[in-house]
Amino acid sequence: ERYVAAEGRYEAEGAVYRRAGRSGIRLPALSLGLWQNFGATTPEDRQRAILRRAFDLGITHFDLANNYGPPYGSAEDGFGRHLARDLGRYRDELVISSKAGYDMWPGPYGDGGSRKYLFASLDQSLRRMGLDHVDVFYHHRPDPETPIEETMGALADIVRSGRARYAAISNYSPIQTDAAAAAIADAGGSLLLHQPRYSMLDRHVEHGLLDTVGRLGLGMVVFSPLAQGLLTDRYLRGVPEGSRATHSRYLSEGDITEAKVAVARELDGIARERGQSLAQLALAWVLRDERVTSAIVGASSVEQLEANVAALAAPPLEQAELDAIDAALAR
Ligand code: NDP
Repeated sequence: ERYVAAEGRYEAEGAVYRRAGRSGIRLPALSLGLWQNFGATTPEDRQRAILRRAFDLGITHFDLANNYGPPYGSAEDGFGRHLARDLGRYRDELVISSKAGYDMWPGPYGDGGSRKYLFASLDQSLRRMGLDHVDVFYHHRPDPETPIEETMGALADIVRSGRARYAAISNYSPIQTDAAAAAIADAGGSLLLHQPRYSMLDRHVEHGLLDTVGRLGLGMVVFSPLAQGLLTDRYLRGVPEGSRATHSRYLSEGDITEAKVAVARELDGIARERGQSLAQLALAWVLRDERVTSAIVGASSVEQLEANVAALAAPPLEQAELDAIDAALAR
């Protein structure tokens, strides 16, 4: 049946938008990522339901990359089908992001930070999604073997060519971020976003990157805010069937250590005292700093997505709660 977006979507629970640094773009405080749960191994009707619900809740930003799947490319292929059938009618209400930087195809030109790879990969991504442009195109990780001038020159030219509206970087250190911002400025361009990992279990951005990004006027969108599920109720009582730890190349049962689960249980107690779930606490926590434009969550069901969006309605974290979280994390 024909999808018609919910009329009240810009008054819905997820319709909370934050400006990306010093730019004209606002992104939803919660964005949806298609790294996992949107490949060829996930039923298409489940993907479809999650995507439609996300947009109906006010989520306008969808984060993809050339290698999302599995297999590589299949998340963009699938997203292209969902666009053609459902969301594409609302193209100008969407911010669609893609990336290149990890190994994508064999040989020397399917990986890294060369101009050849970035242009070819983005053209492939556009074909898979059936788009003539993405809104944000990222260099997915730094490539120390390619001069930053080449990578940033390519991003600037990609924007000039109309293939992307904005350029961005992911997984760059503070020093690499300063170098990238300077190089793209020399090429007549600019960066919109930086995308690092950030969660209660990985606080490295607090040691420099948040300050760098804030000073440069970039937005920060953070990935894996739920630590791939460790900061949810998923693993509090063992490793359930169907959970990411049972089927993903990027999370294994060995990652679900007794020590991490013990911390998660204690954080779960703090969340409950606030009347929240652990996942909701973890999202409120990464969003407590206004320099964080958006938290990109994954979801394997509509229920998870809805529960996560509900985190936006909770009251801000108080200092005593932040202290209790620090104490739990220090154990
Ligand atoms: P999360 O930390 O949000 O983990 C998502 C997983 O957590 C879900 O698949 C689900 O696990 C579980 N989960 C989510 N919500 C709930 C809930 N309410 N209750 C219980 N469990 C829940 O993020 P991801 O690791 O998926 O990363 C998010 C996005 O960030 C990616 O899709 C991608 O767009 C981006 N990313 C970018 C990277 C980069 O290098 N730039 C690297 C990694 C991610 P389950 O499947 O077991 O149900």
